[in-house]
Amino acid sequence: MDLKIFDRMESEVRGYIRSFPVIFNQARGSLLIDKENNEYIDFFSGAGTLNYGHNNPVFKEKLVDYLQSDGVVHGLDMATSAKQHFLETVDRVLLKPRNWNYKLQFTGPTGTNAVEAALKIARQVKGRSNIISFTHGFHGVSGGSLAATANSKFRNVSGYALGNTTFMPYDGYFGPDVDTMAYVERMIEDKSSGMDHPAAVIVETVQGEGGVNVATLRWLKELEQLCKRHDMLLIVDDIQVGCGRTGSFFSFESAGISPDIITLSKSLSGYGLPMSLVLMKPELDIWKPGEHSGTFRGNNLAFVTAAEALDTYWADDAFSKEIARKERIVRDWLENVAHSYPNAGLEVRGRGLIQGLVTAGDHGLANQIAHKAFEHGVVIETSGANDEVLKLLPSLTIEDELLTRGLDVIERSLGEVLGDAAGQGSARVLKFGGKRR
Ligand SMILES: *Cc1c(COP(=O)(O)O)cnc(C)c1O
Repeated sequence: MDLKIFDRMESEVRGYIRSFPVIFNQARGSLLIDKENNEYIDFFSGAGTLNYGHNNPVFKEKLVDYLQSDGVVHGLDMATSAKQHFLETVDRVLLKPRNWNYKLQFTGPTGTNAVEAALKIARQVKGRSNIISFTHGFHGVSGGSLAATANSKFRNVSGYALGNTTFMPYDGYFGPDVDTMAYVERMIEDKSSGMDHPAAVIVETVQGEGGVNVATLRWLKELEQLCKRHDMLLIVDDIQVGCGRTGSFFSFESAGISPDIITLSKSLSGYGLPMSLVLMKPELDIWKPGEHSGTFRGNNLAFVTAAEALDTYWADDAFSKEIARKERIVRDWLENVAHSYPNAGLEVRGRGLIQGLVTAGDHGLANQIAHKAFEHGVVIETSGANDEVLKLLPSLTIEDELLTRGLDVIERSLGEVLGDAAGQGSARVLKFGGKRR
């Protein structure tokens, strides 16, 4: 395919086009179709933005109807019927059933906009500037969010010193035997640790960009208690692993914690339309009118599809069960793959439908597998500090047939990269219903 115009006109900053160097033309469910009509199974889902697949027909119908009726598309933060319906739906589907009380702040449409607002709120409320963020954490690439993002690739191009953030070791950072929470608490308690008392802690329950690092539910619970003990707010950045990715709508629900602030974006609109949201406990709503703004806080097309996504998938627990069933398929498959290549030192980690195959010790391997998989028709990415983790992120609505076909391709690609002739056939590893974990 001729990518010359992109090479000639687009900045060198372009990224994913390099991993997937074709021109995509159409997308439907879990399939991407390029200009030459080649199909690709999508195991990337726009980095977690397409949890309900591409062009979900249920949302599309609502969207087309709204456009046809001349519904308001842009409205700053004015009241519109689409926003009203979204607010009512959030209340009915997300808040009331959980007995939760949060105020909603609509920010600019990208995830980092929501993180910036969340950090501002925490700093204003507590009157302190320092924030605890975690090793390998990713929170966006604008000033405040970037300061809380760990990866030096992003930090190094800020052009100025990033500050007001202290990085602490995430769960498991020193291996399974070191309790990082004890370390964090000691640093906070000791008035001579050198750390300024933080206003808040910002955390991902599963680090999506950082390498599919999974915090245990116990660690999250302890983090919440630590925040309470030391007068810090708990911000859960649920931008990538919220909206159902781990099985429940919010990723932290199984930990039974109650964050002070929650950020949502990526799959919130359900349709890949830009939209972000900050949920805050009502007493934290210290804003005065218009103090924090943004031209695109009112993407009404996103409100329409977001409300439809909540109604269609989250009004009862059927979808959660379905995600758990698919998690078992992927997890069993991954365990089998890891066992089939005992010398490759592969490791499996994840929660829900964000799962990683870790190829630690052999940098480049995960990228090679992803590259091969793309040649064979699967779009899949890597994550982690050294791109050492093959990240499986299929849509939550993917059909079983496409899911197993995609896994089959990945297994074949892995076999080819590892130079294992037996890997070529691949069907060998596709045994479902086997033992779990
Ligand atoms: C993607 C992401 C962001 C940033 O979202 P953008 O829309 O790219 O600004 C922030 N936090 C997490 C956890 C993310 O995955």
